[in-house]
Amino acid sequence: MQTLIQNGTVYTNGQLIPADVLITDQTISAIGAHGAFHGNYDHVIDATNQLVTPGLVDVHVHYRDPGQTQKETIKTGSKAAAHGGFTTVGAMPNLDPAPDTPERVANMVKRNQNEGVVHIEQFATITTGRKGDELVDFAGVKKAGAFAVSNDGSGVQTAGTMYQAMAGAAKAGLPLAAHVEDNSLLFGGVMTESDRSKELGLPGAPSVSESSQVARDLVLAKATGVHYHICHVSTKESIAMVRFAKQQGVHVTCEASPHHLLLSVNDINGKDTNYKMNPPLRTEADRQALIDGLKDGTVDMIATDHAPHTVEDKPADFTKAANGITGSETAFCELYTKLVKTGIISLTKLLDLMTAKPADLFNLHNAGHLEPGKPADIAIFDLNNATTIQEADYESKGINTPFTGDRVFGATVMTLVDGQVVYQRKED
Ligand SMILES: [Zn+2]
Repeated sequence: MQTLIQNGTVYTNGQLIPADVLITDQTISAIGAHGAFHGNYDHVIDATNQLVTPGLVDVHVHYRDPGQTQKETIKTGSKAAAHGGFTTVGAMPNLDPAPDTPERVANMVKRNQNEGVVHIEQFATITTGRKGDELVDFAGVKKAGAFAVSNDGSGVQTAGTMYQAMAGAAKAGLPLAAHVEDNSLLFGGVMTESDRSKELGLPGAPSVSESSQVARDLVLAKATGVHYHICHVSTKESIAMVRFAKQQGVHVTCEASPHHLLLSVNDINGKDTNYKMNPPLRTEADRQALIDGLKDGTVDMIATDHAPHTVEDKPADFTKAANGITGSETAFCELYTKLVKTGIISLTKLLDLMTAKPADLFNLHNAGHLEPGKPADIAIFDLNNATTIQEADYESKGINTPFTGDRVFGATVMTLVDGQVVYQRKED
């Protein structure tokens, strides 16, 4: 079976070039100039005026399955990923039961393979049940197929547990991805303590609840040699410390979410709880520090923290609504429209942050690169025509995002996984 993607602009080897891409069965077999390939192909895809990229990589999604399948399932979550142009994702372990033993991890790996339409890498937890101080069997969960460990959803509260977890993860060769949040510094806050929280009369949590734990962890990461990855980094202090730690040779990476890069406390009106997430939206100065971090390489990758909820979980009361918003289906078009089209970062930079960087830094050898010999995981985007983000188009069960209604460029035209079409835009 051979498929030719012709006449597109192809992102390969860090560059955008006019090229045709030939796929044989599940693999990219050749890349050549426009018109270079002649033959009787089973399938010809015309990508004239379109961008052809490696399938995007998102190391932070929540699929709620098992445990809360009313919010999302492996199937619907992965279809949402495909809609957004993602072909490899990292699924967080805040599930019920949580993948905290080799058997449970092996079961999730099998289910992800059978039920997902994209490649789903599985996180194991750091501690049993994602709470307390009892560490999981790191060597065992790695052998069972976990690609990293995380307690995402909450921070590891004590330094002693984090120190031992890092030592164990380092020994097993597993990256440790940390949700950084010191519960003793939250003070019941539902948004970032700021002028805006005072204006709205909402309880605020100081942003040091994140950055103080980053400070602790960077010291511990240096002492243990672990690959320490910070999930959804969000404060200017965290960015400054990561920048410094990298200079000191600490093996630290971090991700920023589209919402923290595009929104701030100023966007919160107190009623639309699609602006409530954890970490919460920060100040404009924090947002600017994240952008600076993208530009100078302090921020290594973009990850969505796709967190679907039911409508009932997101009532208009900011103090009661669940944290989190969906992200898979809006990430690329939002970032392209608001960061690239505005000239803040280049298209190649955005693509690097969403393909090669996350794949390489998490040792996902089959992801993130559009090159001969690699799996035919490819996304095709329309950069020239504006579309409106609509609820009706979501593949996720969750519609909880503040980006609905936005007029954007960069809609996904098609997504292929192992040479098979897993998403195709409906023609109007
Ligand atoms: Zn988190």
